[in-house]
Amino acid sequence: MSESSPIPERIAGLHDLATDLWWVWHNDAREVFRRLDYKVWRLTAHNPVRMLPLVGADRFAEVAISPAFLQIYDEAMRQLAAARAGADTWWSGRTGIDRSRPIAYFSAEFALHQSLPIYAGGLGVLAGDHCKEASDLGLPFIGVGFMYPQGYFHQTITADGWQEEVYEQIDWAHTATQRAKGLDGQDLVIVVPLGNRTVQVSVWQVKLGGVSLYLMDTNLPENAPWDRELSARLYGGDRETRVQQEVILGIGGVRVLRALGVDPGVWHLNEGHAAFVVLQRIRELLEQGSSFADAHEEVRRSTVFTTHTPVPAGHDAFPFHMVETHLAGCWGGLGSHREDFLALGRFDNGHGTLFNMTALAMRSASGINAVSQLHGHVTRQMWAPLIDELPPQPEPVKAVTNGVHMTNWLSLELSRKLDQYLPADWRARHDETALWDAVLRIPDEELWETRERMRSYMYHFVRERIRDRWVRENATAARVLAGGTLLGQNALTIGFARRMTAYKRPDLIFKDPDRLARLLNDPRRPVQIVFAGKAHPADEGGKHALQGIYRRALDPRFGGRIAFVDDYDLHVAHYLVQGCDVWLNNPLKPLEASGTSGMKAAANGVLNVSIGDGWWPEGFVGGNGWLIDPGVDHTDRDAQDAADADALYRVLETEVVPAFYERDAQDIPRRWVRMVKESIRSVAPRFSTRRMLKEYVERMYLPAYEARTVRR
Ligand SMILES: *Cc1c(COP(=O)(O)O)cnc(C)c1O
Repeated sequence: MSESSPIPERIAGLHDLATDLWWVWHNDAREVFRRLDYKVWRLTAHNPVRMLPLVGADRFAEVAISPAFLQIYDEAMRQLAAARAGADTWWSGRTGIDRSRPIAYFSAEFALHQSLPIYAGGLGVLAGDHCKEASDLGLPFIGVGFMYPQGYFHQTITADGWQEEVYEQIDWAHTATQRAKGLDGQDLVIVVPLGNRTVQVSVWQVKLGGVSLYLMDTNLPENAPWDRELSARLYGGDRETRVQQEVILGIGGVRVLRALGVDPGVWHLNEGHAAFVVLQRIRELLEQGSSFADAHEEVRRSTVFTTHTPVPAGHDAFPFHMVETHLAGCWGGLGSHREDFLALGRFDNGHGTLFNMTALAMRSASGINAVSQLHGHVTRQMWAPLIDELPPQPEPVKAVTNGVHMTNWLSLELSRKLDQYLPADWRARHDETALWDAVLRIPDEELWETRERMRSYMYHFVRERIRDRWVRENATAARVLAGGTLLGQNALTIGFARRMTAYKRPDLIFKDPDRLARLLNDPRRPVQIVFAGKAHPADEGGKHALQGIYRRALDPRFGGRIAFVDDYDLHVAHYLVQGCDVWLNNPLKPLEASGTSGMKAAANGVLNVSIGDGWWPEGFVGGNGWLIDPGVDHTDRDAQDAADADALYRVLETEVVPAFYERDAQDIPRRWVRMVKESIRSVAPRFSTRRMLKEYVERMYLPAYEARTVRR
């Protein structure tokens, strides 16, 4: 740091811009850093905080007097200031609710940028996109979560295809984070009772324009070594670690807000991990003299809860003795109500009665939602006995289908094309469906050229990544080969990038290897598949599936047309969802709650080939991708796999490959391009967080605000 060049006064705001992650989803701001020094931008995997110290004094001096640079710099700074002010936003036009009673959003993970690896997958991406959109719409909104000093693991693959997890200490100096300050202006540290001791928790702030996140970290020298480790890793520990993390997230999270002087109007629990928020709030009210029933009711009115998984094992549940042990220090203010509280989490999942975090959240929220229409049905069935005991309301479990932060996930290349054909203010109005009809006016030749360029960026990204592994990490020849060395630039490219776990069936397409080999190796119509994804460290089945894919990648009979890209993260995801031609999704129905990678792909004109699970029954309108429909519903897993695989091959052989390779005299696949247009047009406005968050406001947040004011 000491050797970094001083930034000239005229562009001194660069530091402010770099340390507010608002820049991540604003093209004008990204452009500032790209133009400042493109090589360093690439070298640092698009991380301005690392970048600024590497830019030379000459370069700073040069841009500080360049009118072209200053124009985009001034524009980005103006937009950032407006985002922070939050005036004249959708929220301010929609409600009269004042900003002093914000929505507090609790989540165990947030995916904001690849430089801050505090997310594992879809849940984190959704939380991150939710916060970004909250800033755009001007919501009074605060995120609460964890700053895991070692984050989620980096994935490396052995020569034999086995996943190894590497944890690296995150260097805070390389991230857009800062110590949060308490009301007294000092670094904020809060205390959380845990078992028979207390744990000190430091707090980091991450800025996102008009929104702030507060992230907790137990790695303080005042704590015992095992307590310092508590927040070290995301999903890295055993059950005991997990329940203690959740105590800190829930109880500590409320204390952080209090220490900041924040009194939220709505408390949003994103997944059950944060449900102990309820306990801390009940305690506060008991201490103010409420009865337990009144306290619980007050908490319930102002709490909303989003559930994310139809897989029973995906819901955290702990033996009662474990919960009692770790909450021992919290019972004080609960007095005789300890049993009342424990009853709020009681749930028999068929294997015995446990303290279930989802049950606690559902019993303590007035708004509950699932994340797609289908997931809404599944949730209502799965939790029927519990829903029956809740106070009656017209929609006990709503369905708010997920979305993705559209302007962040659209490729720069495609966005520029849209600038030419859509109304100039399309970014500001991108959830208006009619606006997207203009996509049909883009000439086929131009859109196809854009798509080919997007594939080529992805191709070069994969190749450069594997070159880097070879040169810098001494990767074996096998790894270099499996990483995509033999991919072609023009072949029909199928992407499968998602968590390696049984229900997503990453190896389904290998069900009939001969049939697949024929499909891939057609000399005139070659097909290739790019895989990526991490297996949870404890998921042996997922790791075996990954190894199976890796071995196929090295099997000559597939012609080098299968690649596995390691260490899947936001950065890799951006290239893949933009650059593939087809996005494959073949979970075991109905276990995919929503899935969001397919939305990112579809909006970029990457055609979905998907089982009718999660969001796809809503997204598929015919002509905008394909539905894998085996026409049968087996109870036998093997039979279902066989039927789904057969249906998948049929779609690929008879529809996808012909449509892609059917070219006219100008070498344009007209039918394909028509589908690309339908895909963009039908998905971009509807599966955006813009649409999603407005729904959360109307159907979840405003009712919770109103329930509070009625009572007061
Ligand atoms: C979008 C995204 C996901 C979610 O993908 P699914 O479709 O839910 O499997 C996971 N990880 C990353 C890095 C993503 O960008």
